[in-house]
Amino acid sequence: MGEGLANVSVGLLFCYDSAWLTRAVHVRDPMPSPFDLHSHSIVSDGTLTPTQLVEHAAAQGVRVLALTDHDDIGGLAEAAEVAARHNIAFINGVEVSVTWHKRTIHVVGLKVSPAHEPLVKGLEAIRAGRHARAEGMAAGLDEIGITGSLEGAYSYAKRGIISRSHFARFLVETGHAKDISAVFKKYLVKGKPGYFEHRWAELDGAIGWITGSGGVAVLAHPGRYDLGRTNMATLLAEFRELGGAGIEVVTGSHTPEQYGHFARLAHQFGFLASLGSDYHGPGHGYMDMGRLPDLPPGCVPVWQDWPEAEAIH
Ligand SMILES: [Zn+2]
Ligand SMILES: [Zn+2]
Repeated sequence: MGEGLANVSVGLLFCYDSAWLTRAVHVRDPMPSPFDLHSHSIVSDGTLTPTQLVEHAAAQGVRVLALTDHDDIGGLAEAAEVAARHNIAFINGVEVSVTWHKRTIHVVGLKVSPAHEPLVKGLEAIRAGRHARAEGMAAGLDEIGITGSLEGAYSYAKRGIISRSHFARFLVETGHAKDISAVFKKYLVKGKPGYFEHRWAELDGAIGWITGSGGVAVLAHPGRYDLGRTNMATLLAEFRELGGAGIEVVTGSHTPEQYGHFARLAHQFGFLASLGSDYHGPGHGYMDMGRLPDLPPGCVPVWQDWPEAEAIH
């Protein structure tokens, strides 16, 4: 449809006034959303400092930004300070790793209080578990003759947690795979030498830390979990029952078809809808900031009652 409209625009270029053309372009390429409620810095596995991340968000036209590092809230204070200088409304966030029926799922907390003790302690426990997993992954890679991966991965984990992405970067840099997505398939997923079975937080625990701190629990990128219809319905029902209030509908991890699909599920299960790029830094294979469209019509945005959103809509 995009291409068709482009042709029509060119064909009618000299026949219609510029206002018509502006509307035609608008239909083809809608204004990106000014919201971005999912992003990462070097405090987890992103490549930009919190300062650089906020500066990039400002340059990309983001007006309401959440930093949601994996299992760590150590970048929030710095990001908030820089956001204030750039006239960006900043939302304290976090992305909590959860094990749900042997699968890893992610729960984004928005508007969390970084001082809430159960949240701080819970995240500390997850980070300790991350180190144990990293040791297990390195031992598996040692067994197939890839040595030095623990130190290699930690050399990329500059300010905070260790993640599979850091191992992936080490394996690409040392010539074991051509890019990040190839490295995951070859080494880091279930059944491969660098995979290490690990249990993250419980779903009820993660939701409890977030809501207990005054935040909103949002199921991150549900389209990425490869659940069938029944399992997805079970997850959504359980998430709702445990106090989860929203799901990501528009994210860098979803296709445009999935925007509509998850908008319908949000409506069906009574969830607020969230939107975020999951940006990890330039050249990281994730979508850039300031590129996502608005939520589909009919969604109730997670920011519906937020004072930070009032200046936008
Ligand atoms: Zn995630
Ligand atoms: Zn993320």
